[in-house]
Amino acid sequence: EEIKGLQVDDHKLAEWDKKHFLHPTSSIKQQQEEGPALIFTEGEGIYLKDIHGKKFIDGLSSLWNVNVGHGRKELGEVAAEQMSKLAFSSAFATFSHEPAIQLAKKIADITPEGLNTVFFTSGGSESNDTAFKLVRHYWKLKGQPDKKKVVSRKKSYHGVAMGATSATGLKPFRDFTTSLAPDFYYVESSPEAFRAFIETEGADTIAAFISEPVQGTGGVHFPPKDYFKEIKSICEENDILFIADEVITGFGRTGTFFGVEQFGIIPDIMSVAKGITSGYAALGGVIISEKIHQDLIDLSDGLFMHGYTYSGHPTACAVALKNIEIIEREDLVANSKAMGEEMLAGFKWLQQEHDIVGEVRALGLMGAIEIFREGNERFAEPLSPKIVAESLERGLIHRGVIYEGADTLIFAPPININKYEINKMINILHDVLSVVE
Ligand code: PLP
Repeated sequence: EEIKGLQVDDHKLAEWDKKHFLHPTSSIKQQQEEGPALIFTEGEGIYLKDIHGKKFIDGLSSLWNVNVGHGRKELGEVAAEQMSKLAFSSAFATFSHEPAIQLAKKIADITPEGLNTVFFTSGGSESNDTAFKLVRHYWKLKGQPDKKKVVSRKKSYHGVAMGATSATGLKPFRDFTTSLAPDFYYVESSPEAFRAFIETEGADTIAAFISEPVQGTGGVHFPPKDYFKEIKSICEENDILFIADEVITGFGRTGTFFGVEQFGIIPDIMSVAKGITSGYAALGGVIISEKIHQDLIDLSDGLFMHGYTYSGHPTACAVALKNIEIIEREDLVANSKAMGEEMLAGFKWLQQEHDIVGEVRALGLMGAIEIFREGNERFAEPLSPKIVAESLERGLIHRGVIYEGADTLIFAPPININKYEINKMINILHDVLSVVE
């Protein structure tokens, strides 16, 4: 039996989903018992529509990635055009093609000063794995093969490839499997903890430090204002490379083009993905400093033995270029900043209205509401799963974070959201919190 568009009735789809589709980051038992909760069919602006025609606000830009919003016809058109002309060709060795060259140049123009060369991947996990291999390769070329440890932060998330998971501070992701990559460590988010780690392990064993400018999956946490400046100078003192994981924070999410701009630092290496195409095609990249690039040129003695089939996929690159053009043309970075302030004001209003709202925070359109249950025996268990379910009923999609004792609601709507839509989101949350309280 064949699926023809959505003419097959939804019971059949649900059945096939259960039987044939192993969902990413899912509860396998729940999926088997309940089937898919929602089957999406369309998207427009900040909204998604499901198979029954019900509309939802996409409060997390799906996976923090649909930055310019859904239903952008010109992204579909540019993909169709590129696919018809040259869907794919290799970029290995000395082969090249215009979309990758144009995108590499554009990325050099928009990234912080000195970050001018990009290696393309298909997504964030590949970007981080590439960054880890790259820093080890780099120190090997520099005659220091023992500089290979990678230090990340507790509560960090860096993806699901072997290295990316190894670098992830959130333990549940690491517990999924046995025997991760060796030489990955997690420190508390203070310069003192990093210094102490270096003292114990020795700088000559440490290749790099990696951090998200704002931790996303861990619950939208940003560090104290000077934290990254201090970390960067510790890195410089000790010859440790600084990798900024901008997979979520890149391309306008925090109200600047890249998250590091909020903290006044320039990393040695930057991982990007998600917002680079706003999810319209699978693409990521690792952007390196001129210094690293020059060292690679000077010291390389053989092949650069690292390349994905889809490193620099022409169609994905063409989509990324058009996506960046939209972000610039519509001034969406400024909109992210302004609407982020609106969203935070809305959160503060909810905080006044509801006892169970604790700390609220946002940087651009990355925001969190902490649920406060202390001393209230009615709420022994985290409330965010119930809140998320009630929101879904009322047409708002967002996520709850309950890792490591947290009870936090997180938000990252498309960065083209307007004031009216922010208010709509806040009003739904107000209704939901009133029901749950
Ligand atoms: N790094 C960060 C900060 C992320 O949030 C994610 C995904 O959520 C990744 C890396 C992994 O990216 P991908 O899922 O595209 O492999």
